[in-house]
Amino acid sequence: MTPRVVVVGAGAAGLMAALAAREAGAQVTLVEKTTDGGRKILISGGGRCNVLPAVAAPERFVSEATRPLVRGLLGAWPLREQQRYFEETLGVPLALEAESAKYFPASNRARDVRDALVARAVALGVERRFGAEVTSIARATDGWQIALTDGTLAADRVVIATGGLSVPATGSTGFGFDIARAAGHTVHPTYPALTPLTAAPHPYADLAGISLDVTIHARSAREEARSTGGFLVTHRGYSGPAVLDVSHVAVRSLDAGGTRATVRVCWTPMDAAAWTAAFLDARGLAVNLVARYVPQRLAETLCDVAGVTRERTCVQLRREERARLIAALTAFELPWTGHEGYRPAEVTGGGVALDEVQRGTLESRRAPGLFFCGEVLDAFGPIGGHNFQWAWSTGHTAGRGAAASA
Ligand SMILES: Cc1cc2nc3c(=O)[nH]c(=O)nc-3n(C[C@H](O)[C@H](O)[C@H](O)COP(=O)(O)OP(=O)(O)OC[C@H]3O[C@@H](n4cnc5c(N)ncnc54)[C@H](O)[C@@H]3O)c2cc1C
Repeated sequence: MTPRVVVVGAGAAGLMAALAAREAGAQVTLVEKTTDGGRKILISGGGRCNVLPAVAAPERFVSEATRPLVRGLLGAWPLREQQRYFEETLGVPLALEAESAKYFPASNRARDVRDALVARAVALGVERRFGAEVTSIARATDGWQIALTDGTLAADRVVIATGGLSVPATGSTGFGFDIARAAGHTVHPTYPALTPLTAAPHPYADLAGISLDVTIHARSAREEARSTGGFLVTHRGYSGPAVLDVSHVAVRSLDAGGTRATVRVCWTPMDAAAWTAAFLDARGLAVNLVARYVPQRLAETLCDVAGVTRERTCVQLRREERARLIAALTAFELPWTGHEGYRPAEVTGGGVALDEVQRGTLESRRAPGLFFCGEVLDAFGPIGGHNFQWAWSTGHTAGRGAAASA
C-alpha cells in the first residue's frame, strides 16, 4: 500500500522531507501556513542563501544530545551528496566562496534555491496545501487526523517540520514543540541562538558601524564557545557572525540566572607575545601602532580603556601601561547586558530531544508514525551553512523514514 505522508511546514527541512518521501514512493501532502513557504530560505545569507558549508563541523553543534548522535544525524546524508542533489537534481549550481568556506547558489539569489525546491515538489506530484495552518494532529484508528484552518487530512505518517521560534514573521510559532510535548517528548528549554547581543547603557555606542574580523570567546559556568569572524558594533550592542556564534552562551547564562557569561574579544590575529614584541620594536605613538591593525576610532577607544593617553609613544609606555593595552587588545571584556531575542535570531536552541527519535528515520520513540526534522529538533550549528545542512539532512532522513515505515 502506498503510504500517505503529510509534511507539516514547507521550510528547508519540510521541503526536503516532502521531496525525499515522494522520491521514495509515498503519496505526499505538504501543508504550509504561509502562502509560499521557505521564507527563511529567502532571507538567508543576506538574500544569497548560504546553502551548505564546505566542510561539516558536527563538533561545533550545540545540543543536549551526545556528540556521536549529532554527528550521525548531520552526516546521515553526506555533504557531497547534498551538494550533488542541489546541482544535479534541483538544477541549482553552487559556488564556493573560498574565504568563508561557504556554498552559495552561483546566481547569488536565495529565491532560486526556494523556487527550485518548490518546483521539484510540483514536478513530482507533491500535493501542496499552502496558506493553510495545521491546528491539531490526533491519532485516528488508521493513522493520523490533521486539522487545518481549512479542512482535515488523513495520513499514515506525519512529518513535523515546523521550525522553532526564530523570526516569527517567517511563520515560526513553536507549534512543533507543542505537538512533541503532547506526544510525551522531552522538549529541551528553547532559547534564541545566533542572535545579536545588546548593551544598555552602551558604552561604545559611538563606535557603531565599526566592523572588523576578531576572535571572540564567551564563557559561562556551564559552557564556552569561541569564534573567529566578522564583528560589528551596532547602536544597540554587537552583531556579526563571530558574536552570533557565541551568543547562546550569553543567552543561556541570562536564562540560568546567577553570574553572567563573560565575553572577551581579541581584536587582531596577534597574541600578547606578538603585541609585546610590536610595542618594544616601534618608535611612534602607541595609538598609531594599534591603528595599523584596527580602525582608528577603535584604536583610540582601546587606548582610553587601557589608560594610555593618545600622546604616549611606544618607547614611553611603562610596563603596566603596555600590559593594560595588550590586555585590551587581546582579551577585551565586552560589556553586554542582554540580547535581541527571537526576532532576528537565525535559529532556536533547545527543542525535541534527539535521543527520543529513531536515529535512522527520525521517527518518534514516543508516538510511532510521527517524525521530526529541522530546527524543531534540539541542535543548531554555527553560521556558515551548517543549519541548512542540518535541515536538509534531517529532512531527507525523516522523509525517507516516513515513506518507508508505513
Ligand atoms: C535571517 C536568517 C538568515 C539565515 N541564513 C542562513 C544561511 O545563510 N545558512 C544556513 O545554513 N542557515 C541560515 N539560517 C538558518 C536557517 O534558515 C534555518 O536553520 C532553517 O531555515 C530551519 O529550517 P526549518 O525547515 O526547520 O524551519 P523553518 O525554515 O522555520 O520552516 C518552518 C515552516 O513551517 C511552517 N509552519 C510552522 N507552523 C506551522 C503550522 N502550524 N502549520 C503549517 N505550517 C507551519 C512555517 O510557516 C515555516 O514555513 C538563517 C536564518 C535566518 C533567520
